[in-house]
Amino acid sequence: MADLGIPQNTIAVLQKYNFVFQKKFGQNFLIDSHVLEKIVDAARITREDCVLEIGPGIGTMTQYLAESAREVVAVEIDRALIPILQDTLSAYDNVTVLNEDIMKVDVWRIVRERNQGRPIKVVANLPYYITTPIVMSLLESHVPLRSITIMVQKEVADRMQEGPGSKDYGALSLAVQYYARPEMVARVPANCFMPRPGVDSAVVRLTRYQEPPVEVRDEKHLFALIRASFNQRRKTLANGLANGLGISREQVTAALEEMGLPATVRGEVLTLEQFAQLSNLLK
Ligand code: SAM
Repeated sequence: MADLGIPQNTIAVLQKYNFVFQKKFGQNFLIDSHVLEKIVDAARITREDCVLEIGPGIGTMTQYLAESAREVVAVEIDRALIPILQDTLSAYDNVTVLNEDIMKVDVWRIVRERNQGRPIKVVANLPYYITTPIVMSLLESHVPLRSITIMVQKEVADRMQEGPGSKDYGALSLAVQYYARPEMVARVPANCFMPRPGVDSAVVRLTRYQEPPVEVRDEKHLFALIRASFNQRRKTLANGLANGLGISREQVTAALEEMGLPATVRGEVLTLEQFAQLSNLLK
């Protein structure tokens, strides 16, 4: 099968199958072989690896992954793409396509059955309408993962990497940085996709930590605290947490004082370490 990283080949496949793009599934297919190579390089795929691809589309990146990995499991929600994938991936015997919604797939089972429970790598040009739920469920589930290398909206890539003081710093930054080391791999302009998305994109690699960089007694409590802090961004932390978590203002103020922070401090200036410390004090 011809290289789908070449636009003419993608157009030929779309025409052959009269494919109609589904906006609701965030379908923007990659048509740039340099970007595809960059993603696969950034994911550091070797012949040892089992790769989970989310949303293979017509199989463009899947072809590149299948060339480098031992095995690829590709999960695609759109039934109309399944016969196309059977065609475009027919040359590979190391690819399994599952016609499912990634949010409903048992990724633990894939890891157990396809990789003897050893960490897999996730690689995807993600559908942008559910980027955050996909990334969060992969990280929070503690499923064995080496890394997640993904194309996301540029703005989301920024949020994943930011620290205190930036307008992009928030619950996603803290959650990602608790579980993984984020690195920007490449910026990708809209003309590398068909159809062109209305936003700029970027590739980020999240390398999963063996152990989180901070110690917390209760992970769930830490994330409830982080969410409550940023849900009420304009409020001081003492007021935001009193509303969001049902803790008294006095308790929060006392914990902040113990940390050497003023009662008027806002969540957006706290580091991950400080959130962890606050969670441990309040728990
Ligand atoms: N990987 C292809 C590429 O790079 O050209 C397609 C990427 S496109 C941005 C996102 C893909 O994810 C589409 O094929 C879409 O149908 C699929 N998708 C959307 N929601 C999904 C879900 N919940 N589970 C699995 N696949 C999904």
